[in-house]
Amino acid sequence: MASELGLPARSDSHPMTIDRVGELGIVGAGGGGFPTAVKLGTRVPLVIANAAECEPLLHKDKELLHHLAEPFLRGMVQAMEMVGAQQGVIGIKGKYLDIIAALEQQLPRGVRIVPLPDAYPSGDEFILVHMVTGRVIPPGGLPKDVDALVANVETLMNIGLDQPVAHKYLTVAGAVANPITVRVPVGISIGEVIAAAGGATVDDFSVLLGGVMMAKPAAGLDVPVTKTTGGIVVLPSSHKLMERHQAKWPQIARIGRSACDQCRFCTEFCPRYLLGHPIEPHRAMQTLGFTGGADQMVMGTLYCCECNLCTMYACPEDLDPKSVCVQGKPVARERGLTFKGSPESVTPNPMAEFRRVPMKRLIARLGLTEFNNVGPLTDFEFSPSRVVLPLKQHAGVPAVPVVKTGDRVRAGDLLAQPEAGKLGARIHASIGGVARLTHDAVVIDAN
Ligand code: SF4
Ligand code: SF4
Repeated sequence: MASELGLPARSDSHPMTIDRVGELGIVGAGGGGFPTAVKLGTRVPLVIANAAECEPLLHKDKELLHHLAEPFLRGMVQAMEMVGAQQGVIGIKGKYLDIIAALEQQLPRGVRIVPLPDAYPSGDEFILVHMVTGRVIPPGGLPKDVDALVANVETLMNIGLDQPVAHKYLTVAGAVANPITVRVPVGISIGEVIAAAGGATVDDFSVLLGGVMMAKPAAGLDVPVTKTTGGIVVLPSSHKLMERHQAKWPQIARIGRSACDQCRFCTEFCPRYLLGHPIEPHRAMQTLGFTGGADQMVMGTLYCCECNLCTMYACPEDLDPKSVCVQGKPVARERGLTFKGSPESVTPNPMAEFRRVPMKRLIARLGLTEFNNVGPLTDFEFSPSRVVLPLKQHAGVPAVPVVKTGDRVRAGDLLAQPEAGKLGARIHASIGGVARLTHDAVVIDAN
């Protein structure tokens, strides 16, 4: 497609197949990085495009649907064909009336739009599938258990573009001069991307990768963008969100043990609990005071999606039930504590739709109201002198390099691939130059 932003054209030289999706190194672009070719190896009647994008301040998927609807819709139809689906659904926030109206003019046969509430966490696969189909994925299950496949907008667009995945779209937000969405070479440093957004507006700043709710603090400005980086949020280092994301476990456990009053707010807001899953974060909090024998309380932690709503929004004491759930998961796995009920016994709480957290209220609670909540797609040309491509930027095993130090590579060349039979994804060069291997990455110094 020759887009108004001068974005890449589609190659017509290959028919789209599951093998081809694997060759292109396409992975879930929404965060998990699950290899898409593996995901497509199923037969389901429904493909759902996840355009819910519920992380505050991020706008990448909405911008792609606005500017790159053609390759996205092509990829959607190709994905439907590969899994044998007759139906496709685009789940997008109902407030984007202009984008929905434009998409409706182009919808392929069998594809419809389901408007979603402007609430967190609408983008969680389990919540999305329930809102679209009315069915509940069983605890520990997958969308295919209820006859659906869910894929992120950019993932489907990458299928439609039919090119090796060497670029990433992301929003730069928060304390930057010009919040934007941009297309960047995979492996570029986040510092260079922040500079493209006009730089930080405060001297002492820190960076969250992936959003603010399910984010990870970046270790520094040299950290490379990967195939799953959906957003870069710059915040003053003193912002309370930074403090919360950087809290250490001993402190979380000590304060949680003494300050939790068992009010249950964390549970009553938990989207997975409201879906009927056997998770009750307030019970996980009780385990902080036990030395063992709390199997039932630990078991539910396995079904926590780590959305962070309990910690960042629900708890009136500013405790961290999400981290307590994360700590409980390996214990539950080790003890083989899984849900033993029947899928039919999992029924949503009748209060679920009244407990959704509106985005505006969440932004206010997180202390983000001062930041400009926009992220227009901008045609910015990046020319990094170096990119660092980690060998593991996907679910599964790290890819094994097929190049060696000193090799000259061109943009789009294959750099690394997973061992035969192992779960993983191929890595391609995002710029031309000279390759150098490190223990966990291929570095390319530009020509
Ligand atoms: S909301 Fe906070 S104080 Fe209330 S039960 Fe949960 S962790 Fe404890
Ligand atoms: S992070 Fe908290 S609210 Fe989210 S699923 Fe886990 S327990 Fe529930």
